[in-house]
Parts: sequence; structure tokens; C-alpha cells
Amino acid sequence: MSHHLLSVDSLSRDDVDHLMRVAARMEPIAQRRQVTRVLEGAVLGNLFFEASTRTRVSFNAAFCRLGGSVCDTTGFTFSSMAKGESLYDTSRVMSGYCDAIVMRHPELGSVAEFAAATHVPVINGGDGPGEHPSQALLDLYTIDKEFTRLGKQLAGAHVLMTGDLKYGRTVHSLIKLLSLYAPMRITLVAPPGLEMPSQLIDLVTSRGHRVEQRDSLAQDYTDVDVVYTTRIQKERFTAEMSEGFCLSRDFTVDRAFLDTRCGRDTLVMHPLPRDSRPEANDLDVDLNGDPRLAVFRQTDNGIPVRMAIFATLLEVDQLIEQELRPVRWFVPPRLGVDDPTL
Ligand code: ASP
Repeated sequence: MSHHLLSVDSLSRDDVDHLMRVAARMEPIAQRRQVTRVLEGAVLGNLFFEASTRTRVSFNAAFCRLGGSVCDTTGFTFSSMAKGESLYDTSRVMSGYCDAIVMRHPELGSVAEFAAATHVPVINGGDGPGEHPSQALLDLYTIDKEFTRLGKQLAGAHVLMTGDLKYGRTVHSLIKLLSLYAPMRITLVAPPGLEMPSQLIDLVTSRGHRVEQRDSLAQDYTDVDVVYTTRIQKERFTAEMSEGFCLSRDFTVDRAFLDTRCGRDTLVMHPLPRDSRPEANDLDVDLNGDPRLAVFRQTDNGIPVRMAIFATLLEVDQLIEQELRPVRWFVPPRLGVDDPTL
């Protein structure tokens, strides 16, 4: 595996399987039953030039749970980029301070440009409409874990992706990642103008997957195993999409959609954040507490998966078990008030 994680393109099926196995070994630490200090003394630089809650905090928490420390900067205003510093200079400077760097930036290709100037491992935390590889890895980990619980298999599964498939970087990385696995059925449902880029559809079909495109959720969908819904990425709209664009109510994934058009064990996923403004028609809150809603299990899985990425890139993945000791503080048995018992 390359020493940076910039795109799913750099991952082989073996790399992905390895990361999934390491993530599973991180569960006792992520679930706060055990503690490790395997990255004691190491420093992570978290550079976020675009809004983030989950990615920034979970990379931060994952590094801390491995025993490391984190330095971070958020937004252009408080960084030297506001003074005209180049990605090359920022990269070289940060390399002198940190042992790993996570970067999010609004421009496509910017994180790769930053990584080209350093030998310190760099992880792409999202580069504009480009990719979000760690999100795709945690999505795959979630699907695999949930399928194991439900007695299902990835081979032949039916995955429906909906919402903003044009600018949503999470679906770009996820569809590439799924394409490394045995053929499945992928249904893409997007409003006109926000369809999945055709080169990604071509890639996936060339690997033997069956892809269908539709423009509304108000149709019959059969045997859907996963509904992966996404937010409209208005911050990336260019002139051809109006700023005032809103998703119609037809695109809302809610309890009625699941009950009438999907199955009793269809999983609902979303990279989050969901846009809770009523006119956004994003994932409905009426599914809160419904065991089919996997979005918070998905965010929880961000910790073991991001720990696995760090442990693998920093080459301590074989040392984890040697370092474990029990947790000594109070940990609630359930985390969220609406978390279902599975
Ligand atoms: N959090 C995800 C991302 O950064 C999804 C989103 O923002 O809609 O790409």
C-alpha cells in the first residue's frame, strides 16, 4: 500500500481487506474497553480548510486512541494560506512538525498536490468534489459488519445510491471501492444535472457490476439491501445549477419509502451531515430509532477504520495486541438515547 491515502484508486483488493481486518482488531479500543499507547510520541497534523465535524474529530480521536497527539488548524483565515502560502510550502513546513497529516481542501486534486511535496503520510479528508477515501472505507466496513449481522453477502447485493451523485465525493469513492468486490447491482437515483459522473459508471460496469440509472425514488425498487443517501452539495454548485435548487420531496428517504418500496432489513446509510432544514428534503428524522437506520453505527465505525488507516500507514498494525490494557473510566453501555438494541 502506498504511504499516502489520497484516492481509492491506489488501493488493491488486498489493501482493502487488510484495512478491514485491522479495523476489526481496533474494535475493543474504539468501543472503549481497552487502551493502547502504540502511537505514543507521534503527532498528527489535521489541516481542514473546509467545514467538517465527523472527519476532523474522528481522525483526531482515532489518533488519540492510538496514544498519539494532534495539532490542528481549521479554515483559511487562521492559516498562512491566507497570506498566499503555497500548498508545497505548507506541506514541507508541516512535515517538520507531524508524523501524519490529514487534509481537507475545497479544490479537486489539492490534497494530492500537497502530498507530492512530502514523504510524511498524507490522508485525503476530502478534496472538493473529488474523493473521500476514508469515508468509503468506513462505509464498506459498515456494510460488511451489518451484512454479517443480517446473514447477507456483498456478492450480488443491491445498493441504491441517491441524492447529489455529481458533487458528492463520498459516493465517488464508495462506488470505486465496491467495484473491487464481486459483481453487485447498483441503482443510481439522482435529479437531472446531479447524476454520477459517466467515467465512474463506465469503470464500475467494466468490472462486471450491473448499473441502472433513475431520476426519482417514487418508483418501484426491489430487493434493495442498502440505500445510501446524500446531501445536496450546494457549496460546489457552478453556474449551471441554481443556488436555489432544492431536492423534491420525492427524494426523501423516510419510513414510508422504506416500508413501501424496500425490505424489512434494508439498511439506510448517509455520510452525514443530513440537512435538517425542511426544504432540503434530506434523510427524514422519522427513521431515528429504527434499526434499519445505520447512520450512527456508520459514524461510530469511523473510529476503528481511521485507527486502522493510521496503524497501517505508520506501520504499527502488528504491535496493537502487545500494547492493550483495560479501560479504567466510566463508559455508558449505550451511547445514544434512541440507539436500537440489535
Ligand atoms: N461529510 C461528507 C463530506 O465531507 C458528506 C457531506 O458533506 O455531505 O463529503
